[in-house]
Amino acid sequence: MSEYVLDKQYFVDVIKDLIKLAEDRKEYFTELDSAIGDGDHGMNLSIGFREVDKNLDEWQKESVNGFYKKVGTALLDKVGGSSGPLYGSFFMKFGLPVKTKGPDDGVTFEEFIEMMETGVNIIKKRGKSTTGEKTMLDTLVPAVETLKSAYEGGSAPKEAMAKAVEAGKDGLESTRNIVATKGRAMRLGERAIGHLDPGAASSAEILEVFYNHMP
Ligand code: ADP
Ligand code: MG
Repeated sequence: MSEYVLDKQYFVDVIKDLIKLAEDRKEYFTELDSAIGDGDHGMNLSIGFREVDKNLDEWQKESVNGFYKKVGTALLDKVGGSSGPLYGSFFMKFGLPVKTKGPDDGVTFEEFIEMMETGVNIIKKRGKSTTGEKTMLDTLVPAVETLKSAYEGGSAPKEAMAKAVEAGKDGLESTRNIVATKGRAMRLGERAIGHLDPGAASSAEILEVFYNHMP
């Protein structure tokens, strides 16, 4: 089943596009965070990915794991707030399942699924959180569950990822109707109803970038 390989360039292209996303969507993410948080989500992502951009040429020479570890460390070190450490941990641990691979090695789709699971699990652990709490996990958890079940159910890799992106968008939409039990929006209680969670929104767009570059 596994001739499908995501090559090293795929992982580089994803990061290049995330750098762009962080700039292009800065105002939107900030607007969402202004409604139920402190209005810095767009700025946080932008600060983090600008740091990544500065070092991209150097870091992309490494293996997928080495490269994403550097990306994650930059987000963790440079970004205040909750999203920096959470996304930082995601990227730091993302390549762990393929840590023995070299700088030119690609990744099978089975390995990619494991990487996504590893990333999401670390967010759960660091955030001490789960779905239904109006966070990025409302996007990421159903997306990754769908990715795995669709692929195991026979969907082709890119089709499985398309389904994952859709599940993530449904998860994002679900954050509109829930009260936050994690993060700053917690303090708003019922007043957070009607608003999308900013981290869930950025996660949905990040997943779409992972989808767009898939062969
Ligand atoms: P801060 O909340 O510190 O201002 P950001 O605005 O950059 O940081 O990010 C806010 C987002 O972080 C929220 O919309 C939510 O998705 C996510 N978040 C906050 N706390 C947690 C947590 N404990 N677990 C998972 N995600 C969280
Ligand atoms: Mg904020």
